[in-house]
Amino acid sequence: MELCDMPAWKLKEMISKGEIGPEDVLDSVFNRIDAVEGTLNSYITLLRDSSYAQAKEVKRRLKEGESLPLGGIPIAIKDIICTKGIETTCASKILKGFRPPYDATVVARVKRAGGIIVGKTNLDEFAMGSSTENSAFGPTRNPWNPETVPGGSSGGSAAAVAAGEAILALGSDTGGSVRQPAAFCGIVGLKPTYGLVSRYGLIAYASSLDQIGPMTKDVKDCALLLQVIAGKDDKDSTSIKLNLPNYLEACEVKDLKGIKIGLPRECVSESIDRSVARVIEEAKRVFEKLGAKVVEISLPHIEYALPTYYIIAPAEASSNLARYDGVQYGLRLKAGSLREMYLETRTNGFGEEVKRRIMIGTYVLSAGYYDAFYLKALKVRRLVKEDFDEAFKEVDYILTPTSPTPAFKIGEKIDDPILMYLSDVFTVPVNLAGICAISINGGFSDDGLPIGIQIIGRAFDEYGVLGVASAFEAETECHSRRPYRR
Ligand code: GLN
Repeated sequence: MELCDMPAWKLKEMISKGEIGPEDVLDSVFNRIDAVEGTLNSYITLLRDSSYAQAKEVKRRLKEGESLPLGGIPIAIKDIICTKGIETTCASKILKGFRPPYDATVVARVKRAGGIIVGKTNLDEFAMGSSTENSAFGPTRNPWNPETVPGGSSGGSAAAVAAGEAILALGSDTGGSVRQPAAFCGIVGLKPTYGLVSRYGLIAYASSLDQIGPMTKDVKDCALLLQVIAGKDDKDSTSIKLNLPNYLEACEVKDLKGIKIGLPRECVSESIDRSVARVIEEAKRVFEKLGAKVVEISLPHIEYALPTYYIIAPAEASSNLARYDGVQYGLRLKAGSLREMYLETRTNGFGEEVKRRIMIGTYVLSAGYYDAFYLKALKVRRLVKEDFDEAFKEVDYILTPTSPTPAFKIGEKIDDPILMYLSDVFTVPVNLAGICAISINGGFSDDGLPIGIQIIGRAFDEYGVLGVASAFEAETECHSRRPYRR
């Protein structure tokens, strides 16, 4: 097996035994990039030279006896997360040329841990989308079948990890953007509880929903990366002070005796793809075999979660995106007056979907519509959260599909925004409630496309969620399949 197809924890072992060096891993990753990037387009910016410089530095630190949790591991960063001096575009023309003067907290932590940043990955512009087709830099393709989308908005990160163009990646998840692309590309994606991971330096989409999460080949890597990025940061007032557990220990869970998992009746309806229903049925049997009790539950307001999200997220986005006025960042188009300059810059700088969201958001916040849309959405958000509170009185975890279908064809949904939004039906409730959830590979469709299952946990129970996911992984084979190594 090539190094680029191995998980980080394994490479770390090999590096620490002196069997390989960080440059060997980089060579393997860049060889793969050279072979497949022309097809996949996972990256907006590649950092080949600085990667090798970082590798040298990591080698020196390792030699000096520093203990580096990510020592020498190549990692890709979604291009909505600020990297000091390195262009950060959000896949938008409006940020072209923007070089942040600082690192996001997660990036600083990754560097401190010895991770090597190999590039900035493609995404839907400002993380708005579910297919990575809304990028000013062209779509990313799914390594399992380049005719299909990798999911979105962190599609570049997902494709890169699945294809061996990176060992680990960071994505951001506002309504499913880590989990849904992880599902479509057959990898692991975790949306941490709101407040666990600092958002400092994550360019804001919808601030009450945004979280940064790990995207990895397996659950153990997910625990490894979460450990590095989680924890209080004084630069983000919503980050929470908490005694972090050792997430890697969670991966030692072998059985699920005494654990109760709820399967929401509303999430196994006829509207999900047959292959997805089959994978959920099989997953249920795996969990039962591991000793868990799987029971039917109800989340009565979940059907309102999607419309609620698509009011709250655009409302917050319309406010967050007001700062791109041609004055402070990136693109500025010439015009006769200030007003015309705003108009020209924003009209040309933003793509269709972003403009759609700004218009929806402005509409639902405007006088006369605020109560009918935005305020009502906030009330429904509370009801969705209370559904989870009730459910978690009865069960420890909740199992749902990550997405109602496997990866769809490029172009299939791009002209029908509502159809595209439906892809997020199972992921957005988790963001609205502020809790945590992981997507892991549960199996494959008849066409050989990966299918994700989602395990939802209580707020700050990432440890438990990782344990359940890792027990599932130990019992099944599907996660070890890779698109370029069948
Ligand atoms: N697909 C959802 C949206 O378009 C979620 C995106 C995200 O999580 N960033 O808003």
